[in-house]
Amino acid sequence: MRDKCSRRDFLKTGIGLSAAALMSGGKNLLGAEGNEGPMRVVASGNGLRATEKAMEILRQKQDPLDAVIAGVNIVEEDPNERSVGYGGLPNEEGVVELDSSVMHGPTHNGGAVASLRNIKTPSKVAKIVMERTDHALLVGNGALKFAKAHGFKEENLLTDRARAIWLRRKETLSDRDFWFPPKPEKTEREFASFYEFHGTINCCAIDAAGNLAGVTTTSGFFFKIPGRVGDSPIIGAGLYVDNDIGAAGSTGRGEANILNCGSFQVVNFMGMGHSPEEACLKSLEKIAGKAKRLPQLLNDDGLPRFGLNFYAINKKGEYGGASMWSGARYAVHDGKENVRKPCAYLFKRNR
Ligand code: ASP
Repeated sequence: MRDKCSRRDFLKTGIGLSAAALMSGGKNLLGAEGNEGPMRVVASGNGLRATEKAMEILRQKQDPLDAVIAGVNIVEEDPNERSVGYGGLPNEEGVVELDSSVMHGPTHNGGAVASLRNIKTPSKVAKIVMERTDHALLVGNGALKFAKAHGFKEENLLTDRARAIWLRRKETLSDRDFWFPPKPEKTEREFASFYEFHGTINCCAIDAAGNLAGVTTTSGFFFKIPGRVGDSPIIGAGLYVDNDIGAAGSTGRGEANILNCGSFQVVNFMGMGHSPEEACLKSLEKIAGKAKRLPQLLNDDGLPRFGLNFYAINKKGEYGGASMWSGARYAVHDGKENVRKPCAYLFKRNR
């Protein structure tokens, strides 16, 4: 049951409280007084442009959530990125549906949208859900109406290339329907590589005052059932931030992550004293253990047949990434250089 204070009082109290919580005896508890900590930005492997941009914004002493959102906006708006925003591969009906969440450490607030159509930058809408509503997650048509009320313009997110990939998939689904694929072409192998396609960008940051924030944004699985929501907009699964401990986010098979609250687990493990890399591995270990109960999730060796990756930063600015299977990388800007690094992993691919 909601308490009796009005919404306006509630917001005012919230602002008053967070200011009071951050200042004690004139001293900023989050690291002011000139002793600034390290700034870091960590992202999934497709996030090198995002980490660069976010660091630029952190250096201007702007809010870490604004920094990571501006970073991922570059990828959301890129028509050549097929797993995020504009240019993302569509659902089985040929419609691009986007998921995103944001979380702001200092206020422990968050917002998310799921199955959002026609808006290129779902991460910006997620932030407005956080700031301008008393809700945490808006979906589908409601999310679209909300975005339009806030001035977002509807656009067709399906690029010609994404449509061609979708059409080829539809035409090759069955030889007992009415759709014919074109005669085999040189490009056949290229199309085949999109059959089990999915991807996401996650980006988390810590600013000089030790404040954390994160964002995750995706078009989810190619050819998903319309309305399918992955882990990216689920706080605790695709993203979690605890300003006292650290931030974590994920890419990979969302269903496995949702069922295990993966990013929450990573932050929890960091809170128990594990390094970010160890915490990511421990969360993956738990998920791999639970996957053993569902035979359809296992390969012939009895190991998870899906990929999942976590990326994390702790309050000290230490960072790391880990993945279920070897070969993944993550992006990090450590204040000096912006590079990709190999993720730690649970299982080594035989190739
Ligand atoms: N996690 C995303 C989802 O399940 C997909 C991915 O990151 O590859 O929607």
